[in-house]
Amino acid sequence: MKEKPLRTSVIGSYPFPGWLEFASRNLDQFGSADLAEMQDDAAMVAIQDQLRAGLDVITDGEQTRLDFNLSFYGYLNGIALEPASPRRFGPPAHDQRGKHEIVGRIAAPRGLGTVGEYERLRRLAPAGQRLKMSVPGPYTMSGRIQPKHPRHRYPDRYVITEELLPIVQKELVRLADAGCEEVCVDEPSMSCYGHREDTKRFVDIFNRTVEPVVGRMRLCTHLCFGNYKGHAVGYRRYAPLFPDFLELKVDELHLEMASREYAELEIIGKVAERMDVAVGIIDVKSYFIETPELVADKVRACLEFAPADRLVFAPDCGLSQTARWAARQKLENMVEGVRRVRRERGLDG
Ligand SMILES: [Zn+2]
Repeated sequence: MKEKPLRTSVIGSYPFPGWLEFASRNLDQFGSADLAEMQDDAAMVAIQDQLRAGLDVITDGEQTRLDFNLSFYGYLNGIALEPASPRRFGPPAHDQRGKHEIVGRIAAPRGLGTVGEYERLRRLAPAGQRLKMSVPGPYTMSGRIQPKHPRHRYPDRYVITEELLPIVQKELVRLADAGCEEVCVDEPSMSCYGHREDTKRFVDIFNRTVEPVVGRMRLCTHLCFGNYKGHAVGYRRYAPLFPDFLELKVDELHLEMASREYAELEIIGKVAERMDVAVGIIDVKSYFIETPELVADKVRACLEFAPADRLVFAPDCGLSQTARWAARQKLENMVEGVRRVRRERGLDG
């Protein structure tokens, strides 16, 4: 069980400050010490914004995954870097991201980099602050890798998933060993494609991935319909995913609700019978800034379906695709809205 009723949290990512984006395009001009300093400074910006908003749980904003060499694929052997974009013109969207070609056996001899990120976050955040890390699940990671390479035995996405599964599993164990208390295992591809794939197979993949750390850390997952460049890619209904997804071995299940105008909100009651339910109450795709009153109204609506000690509130998705001024204001209003309901229901202290 979480530490307080009506908890406020976030999904991993946070917008990069302008200087970080600029610097990440000119990395060859920085020395290793400059880079280390930049990574600390970038994480500090995300930490400070989240602390100022008053969140119960914070992340490092994924600020240090700032270029390909620092992202998960950069840690994998056996794939070619720098995939070519299949569509270079037209509106920005997920179909502009190329797939990494397989050139050998997939392995991650140095892990996926999240332990270093966690250690940085712990070093920079105030003592006692609840911290969360996010790690991509193997099915989602497999989506950016091209199967059917003529010289290698990876005929389809599921075979690549099975190859990545022990790599992600080991990363989770390393995080637990490092003292990380809370991890969101992100499998947005499962929620995006659950309407046409075998959801029982998804649950089996997820549960095998997290098995060694169940009970060792608070495990969360985020059922997302996509937010690359602020666009969805999935069929934005939860009905096809349930009841199978109630079998996911997590302590907290996050559902995006705000951008879907709270369609299927009643499903949080079913989730709350099994685990904590995190409700996406901030629309990260919209520049309409939710007011504290609106947030408080939505919190009250959620309380019609699920008890306070099971409820968590967060934005619909990571905030990386939302301008920082809007992200900051949205988080502040979210926390204030939730606090109002905490006060009126006598849940403070
Ligand atoms: Zn998301």
